[in-house]
Amino acid sequence: MKWSFKIGRFAGIDVFMHFTFILLISWVALVHWRQGQSLTAAMAGVFFILTVFMCVVLHEFGHAMMARRYGIKTRDIILLPIGGVARLEKLPTNPIQEMWVALAGPAVNVVIAFALFVYFRVTASLEPLQTLTITTGPFLERILAVNIFMLVFNMIPAFPMDGGRVLRALLATRQEYGRATQIAATIGQGIAVLFGFVGMFYDPFLLFIALFVWIGAAQEASIAQFKSAIGGYPGSAGHDQ
Ligand SMILES: [Zn+2]
Repeated sequence: MKWSFKIGRFAGIDVFMHFTFILLISWVALVHWRQGQSLTAAMAGVFFILTVFMCVVLHEFGHAMMARRYGIKTRDIILLPIGGVARLEKLPTNPIQEMWVALAGPAVNVVIAFALFVYFRVTASLEPLQTLTITTGPFLERILAVNIFMLVFNMIPAFPMDGGRVLRALLATRQEYGRATQIAATIGQGIAVLFGFVGMFYDPFLLFIALFVWIGAAQEASIAQFKSAIGGYPGSAGHDQ
């Protein structure tokens, strides 16, 4: 992808960072510096956001490693400020395999969250979740919250989230693939409308998510239409927040 630079190669897969990511990190540093008025506060903020994106990278590797089990290579993994993308060379043709590839990402968040939860139980150090905000609260507890959020968000059954791919895969076990995509995309857009509606009254952030989901669903539907016209299926997977 243009405007990206390589940050490393793990398990034979190149990981790139989009340059807009630098903007995000600068912004986080600035917000924390303003709040805490110190370099330590700014660095703590940057460290937090980098740890969050480490979880995103691990999530993407979940997809990539499961795809590898089915003999599918991953071209690269790209980190964007809105999340990560594992670009698979192709998707499995078997819907059940596609479902496992889609589930493997969120499964990584389950493992991280579970490990942290066990740690908190053993050390009896879990503080009430209500005391947490994005910028304040115990570091590991915020990472736990982020992983739960990533899990729930990614399992929303709408494209471009993993849940949308799971839904399509389940539909594709009974329907032709293009048709399954159409149905999944329509369900996704229904969810987007619902989010938009709730967002208008409660949280403007949901409006943003609604737009993101709407565009993702429309895109997936048009790719499926195009591909069923020429034969063959899309080659990228996994948008994550
Ligand atoms: Zn994912």
